[in-house]
Amino acid sequence: MNERTRLLDDLVSRFPGVPREAVLKEDLLRTGIAFDASALTDNESGEVKPKSYFIFSFDHKPLKELGEAALRRPPEEIALTGGPFGLRRTIVSVRLNPGSPYRVARGEDGTLTLSLEDRPFADVEFPPMPEYYRHRLENGKSVMEIAPTIQWGYLIYLTVLRLCQYFGAKEECQFCDINHNWRQHKQAGRPYTGVKPVEEVLEALAIINRYDVAGTSHAYTLTGGSVTSEVDGLKEAEFYGRYAQAIEEAFPGRWIGKVVAQALPPEEAKIFREHGIQIYHPNYEVWDERIFRHVSPGKQRYVGREEWHRRILEARDIFGARNVIPNFVAGVEMARPYGFATVDEAIASTAEGLDWFMSRGVTPRFTTWCPEPATPLGKANPEGAPLEYHVRLLGVYRETLERHGHKPPPGYGPAGPGRAVFSVSSFMDSLEGLDDRSFDADTTRAELPEVTAG
Ligand code: SF4
Repeated sequence: MNERTRLLDDLVSRFPGVPREAVLKEDLLRTGIAFDASALTDNESGEVKPKSYFIFSFDHKPLKELGEAALRRPPEEIALTGGPFGLRRTIVSVRLNPGSPYRVARGEDGTLTLSLEDRPFADVEFPPMPEYYRHRLENGKSVMEIAPTIQWGYLIYLTVLRLCQYFGAKEECQFCDINHNWRQHKQAGRPYTGVKPVEEVLEALAIINRYDVAGTSHAYTLTGGSVTSEVDGLKEAEFYGRYAQAIEEAFPGRWIGKVVAQALPPEEAKIFREHGIQIYHPNYEVWDERIFRHVSPGKQRYVGREEWHRRILEARDIFGARNVIPNFVAGVEMARPYGFATVDEAIASTAEGLDWFMSRGVTPRFTTWCPEPATPLGKANPEGAPLEYHVRLLGVYRETLERHGHKPPPGYGPAGPGRAVFSVSSFMDSLEGLDDRSFDADTTRAELPEVTAG
């Protein structure tokens, strides 16, 4: 048996409480997938929904080293079933890695297969091209560029600012390639709007609203880089808030509104809420104090770790504790040169952070670190973090959630293997039996505290 197959089998048998779907998904996310030319898309002219590059590159190689996949994009996500693990339907975000032991190819009969170390491992389904991607804005821009959807259509991902004002080695988060990704798309001549005009966002959403007749889209996320000075003459809360305000005026209550932003002082975070945002993501990235200082130097410099955490807790009064959902990037705890040397230490630290937040009513969530090559941590750790770390984290996350009596966080769709649509981490896949229809927009809204003006 080959090395990676052996590793998967070993972890599946050692951690029976973690669904095998989640084990495989974590490995695909941390390692990336190679795509045979037969499995690439015809971009926006074909029948398969292509990868939109919705914020970061999430690839293991720069565009210029992706060969044909740089010209004919891979799909945004894949859905896996069957194979030796008997997989229940598992949706995985596509991260390209031409050197991966995982490969997707199309057979002569047209069927798509994921192989691991040259052996078939799962049946593959690609996301169909949504009708709303077939229509363009009046100025010719595509809906995929202005308002791409991910999570099998559940989430509209509005990266309205494609650059971060944390800039350069002393400020950028050491795992983040947002600024590099903007540059590489510009250099490749791809359309990649730095600051998306509000009118374009509204026009794209109107197209989605019109053609998403099945009501697959449930939420939107307003996001982008941190604003340390101003954009369009606006500070961060006003900048992102103006989109929410316009969206909620044009489509009141149509989607769950979420924003990813810095941990702002309460009087500024309140602006999001007043403009209709329901879920706030002030991402803390990594728990350990020393690692945080090195890995997120901009956040440390402009806000500071303690203050960041204090503001996360203060936001409970504005959004309700359950609707404050800070993200961390699972795996950077183990990234050289700052990370922990052992899985035990990294899990202990991350567990401490989860306990700290969850005991205070806040449920963090995580994305699986992709070691992008243009980032300092990606360069130093091209293999990412050990799979055992990711698998044990899923167990710790669930255990902490249950111990504190929490449900899966709202705004991510259904939970559990075979049901989850959240595609950049398997935390939702691993929460079997804990779902309470928290993906429902009305449930989320009902939990919001009243916001008083002023
Ligand atoms: S705050 Fe950090 S993670 Fe977020 S966009 Fe800026 S550099 Fe990237």
